[in-house]
Amino acid sequence: MALEASPADVVMLGIDGVRVLDAREVDGEIELPVETTTDRDWCRACGVRAHSKERPTVVVRDVTGFGRRGRLRWRKRRWRCPEPACPAGSWTEQHPALRPRMTMTERARKTACRRGGRDGQPVATVASEFGVGWHTIMRAVFDHGQPLVDDPTRTGGVRALGVDETSFLRAGPRRRTRFVTGLVDLDRARLLDVVDGRAGSAVAEWLGNRDHGWLAVVERVALDPYRGYYNALVGGLDAPEVVVDAFHVVRLGNTVVDEVRRRVQQQTTGPSRARRRPAVPHPPAAVDRPRTPLSARPPAAA
Ligand SMILES: [Zn+2]
Repeated sequence: MALEASPADVVMLGIDGVRVLDAREVDGEIELPVETTTDRDWCRACGVRAHSKERPTVVVRDVTGFGRRGRLRWRKRRWRCPEPACPAGSWTEQHPALRPRMTMTERARKTACRRGGRDGQPVATVASEFGVGWHTIMRAVFDHGQPLVDDPTRTGGVRALGVDETSFLRAGPRRRTRFVTGLVDLDRARLLDVVDGRAGSAVAEWLGNRDHGWLAVVERVALDPYRGYYNALVGGLDAPEVVVDAFHVVRLGNTVVDEVRRRVQQQTTGPSRARRRPAVPHPPAAVDRPRTPLSARPPAAA
C-alpha cells in the first residue's frame, strides 16, 4: 500500500512546510539553509497573485542534530502586490515554527522550557547548551511554561496536599534568609505552586484563591510541624486529616534523642571539654523570625 509522504527534504527537518536546501558545518555547528514549500501567494487586499521580491535571510537556533548545535538559515520570501493602486504593498512570509523576531525555532524554545522545567536544569546551563542568552531562554520558559502552569487539569483533583517551606535565598550581610512555601499534590508527586514567604497567611491566601469544588476534594494535608500552616490548612479546608510529614517527625525524634543523650552524658561525666572552653563570640547572624512549633496540644480557642 502506498502512503502519501512528504518529500525527503521536508521529512528530514521535521517542520511542516519547511524544506532543507543544503547542510553544512559552521563553527562546529550544523547549519541548514531552509525555505518554506509555499512558492506562491496572493494579495490579502485585492486577491491578485503576488510577485516574489528579494529573499532576506534570518538565522535561528534550532534543536541539536547529530550531537551538535543546530541552526537554520531561513531564506524568507518577500512578496509584493503587482497592482500599482493596491495599498497592500509588500509583505514577508510567516511560519508558525519560526516566529517573527524570535532567535530560536518554536520547537527549540519548547525543548529549552522542558530542560529548565521537567529536567530541572538552570537557565544558564540551558542557555549555554543552545548558545543563546539567559533572557532568550527565560522568555521561552515563560511562553511555553505558563500555559502548563495555568492548565486547570494539572492542579485539579488534589486529595492529599503537602505544604512545606524551602530556603529560597540564603542570608547575606544585608538580608535575611528568604523562604518560599511549596504546595504539592502528594498522590501525583507534583508541585502545584510556590508562594512567597513561610507564613500561614501565604497558605491561607493561596487556598482562598481556589474555588469551593477544588477545596472540597482535599481529604488529607501533610505539613511540617508549624502552627501557622496548621491554622491556615484547618481553617481553609473542610476538616482535613492532618499529618506531619515523615521527614520532620524523624528529625524531631532525632533532636529529642540527642538532647536526652547530651543531658545524661553531662549528668554522668560533667560538661564536655568543648563546654569548658570560653565561648568565641559570633557576630549576630541575620536570621528569620522564630516559628511557632506545632505541639501535640490542640490550638487554644481564639
Ligand atoms: Zn493587492
